[in-house]
Amino acid sequence: MALLTTEATILKTYEYSETSKILRLFTRDAGLCSVIAKGARRPKSRFGGLLEPFTDGVATFYVKEGRELHTLSGFELGCERQTLGGQLVRYAGAGLLTEIVLRFAASTADERLFAQLRRGLDRLVDEQGDLERAILEETWRLTKSLGFAPSVDACSVCNEPPPADQVTHFDLANGGVVCNRCRPQVNHPNLLRLAPEERAELAELLSEAVGRHLGRVEGGQTQRRLLREFIAYHLAEQRPLNSFRFLEGRLG
Ligand SMILES: [Zn+2]
Repeated sequence: MALLTTEATILKTYEYSETSKILRLFTRDAGLCSVIAKGARRPKSRFGGLLEPFTDGVATFYVKEGRELHTLSGFELGCERQTLGGQLVRYAGAGLLTEIVLRFAASTADERLFAQLRRGLDRLVDEQGDLERAILEETWRLTKSLGFAPSVDACSVCNEPPPADQVTHFDLANGGVVCNRCRPQVNHPNLLRLAPEERAELAELLSEAVGRHLGRVEGGQTQRRLLREFIAYHLAEQRPLNSFRFLEGRLG
């Protein structure tokens, strides 16, 4: 049995017995891990009230070889982000980011994904501008960190940039835009129509350029649908994310 100390973000918690909690953690050194925090639900627990979703800290736990559930021995608080719970849209966005990591990350270290999740959660705590934009941008970045990035500037078949005023299609299977010339060659049902302004807005949401436009998202429903269907196609194997439904209910 080895003792591991690693930075960790709490993704989800479950009550376990009268007194304990099970935590799903995303750790810097070991990726996804499940740990049991014994006694965490007792009023005078040594863990205090810290063990809640979206909290960062340094976790120490005993790793049992061949077992899925490890035993937490300590959790040193880094950043608790409990203000997310006070606003439903922020909370829904944070829930989406953590559900994506919970569903699609592996039990191995992934520095890029680890850093991106923390950046995304911090932005949802601090964002002063359009929250929907922040959620869409951070969710696309997390998806990119998992290795899935759509191309919107050039056609995914001929590689030419479509004219700015052209109505194009978004090809979920190939993960990119298809121009009108190539469209007849793409013969499957996973095409979503994209008006020129919708394509421009998608490109902007995917851009990480400093100084980009940061105003309100105009076509929120379309952009949410593109993101949702892209994730469903590439990651979720048609098992929809619960947090997406919750978020859409909050944004209307
Ligand atoms: Zn083309």
